[in-house]
Amino acid sequence: MRAMVFDSTGVPLRLAELSDPELAGGQALLRVRACGVCRTDLHIVDGELAHPKLPLVLGHQIVGEVLDSSGRFERGARVGVPWLGWTCGECRYCLSGLENLCDRARFTGYDLDGGFAELTVADERYCFPVPDGYPDDQAAPLLCAGLIGYRSLRFAGDAERLGLYGFGASAHIVCQVAVSQGRRVFAGTRAGDDEGQAFARSLGAEWAGDVLAGPPDELDAVIVFAPVGELVPAALRHVRKSGVVVCAGIHMSDIPTFPYELLWGERSVRSVANLTRADGEEFLGLAPSIPVRTEVERFPLEEANAALDRLRDGSVRGAAVLVP
Ligand SMILES: [Zn+2]
Ligand SMILES: [Zn+2]
Repeated sequence: MRAMVFDSTGVPLRLAELSDPELAGGQALLRVRACGVCRTDLHIVDGELAHPKLPLVLGHQIVGEVLDSSGRFERGARVGVPWLGWTCGECRYCLSGLENLCDRARFTGYDLDGGFAELTVADERYCFPVPDGYPDDQAAPLLCAGLIGYRSLRFAGDAERLGLYGFGASAHIVCQVAVSQGRRVFAGTRAGDDEGQAFARSLGAEWAGDVLAGPPDELDAVIVFAPVGELVPAALRHVRKSGVVVCAGIHMSDIPTFPYELLWGERSVRSVANLTRADGEEFLGLAPSIPVRTEVERFPLEEANAALDRLRDGSVRGAAVLVP
């Protein structure tokens, strides 16, 4: 099969002919129909996440067609493979509904080969049926941008005035969910990103503007999607007493020091890590009923490096998706 392979930091992904993956017990063999490109992929390529499997096939938002199954799926079924690829089932986190924090978790496209390829295998217990009504490419971003965004939204509690800072793949989905729940969305982007701000307004954001200047209204919660530590104290300045700042990414530049006064008033800062299967089932059940629409830019598999570059410079509108 053809795959885009990551060998080491600073070197572009390499188009390679690899032997087809073989089905092991409990797995499904999938023909990849689309695979979303995530900010996390960029963090891996840039060496910001330690100890990936090497060489590695990236990609953890896989929509695949079942070629062979260990029993859970029919041949030909369409399934999604998310970031959470395996958990131990016996640690304190697994036993308390927090499998996303499993000490021995293995992640797709990081510890396990992922979907920047024509074929892949995945543990069937961690796959999801893909909701009907979404073309393959438009379903792919639901699997990480959507799922982890949704988990982040849960941690925003019942916030009515919700800030979304960094309006990329995840925010463009979360915005639609939040608006459908009757929340007021305030989208923070880079100053001067007129196109991104117009995009946010088109999805129901009541305000979109320079993230550092902040919105005109005080917020109840902010979800920070951009991997920019500077946005944490900025968001704390923008939330009311008892407000929460949720950091949704897996990596962020250092958070600058800030006066305690910004945290005072029972404000809190928390991170969101990974996803549970329950998050996935809940979100994928909900998405078609809203309905969440995803905006995607398609790239051929062999143009994965171009897709990563576009993500890095912030010029992708919605989500980037590779199509083999
Ligand atoms: Zn991701
Ligand atoms: Zn565990």
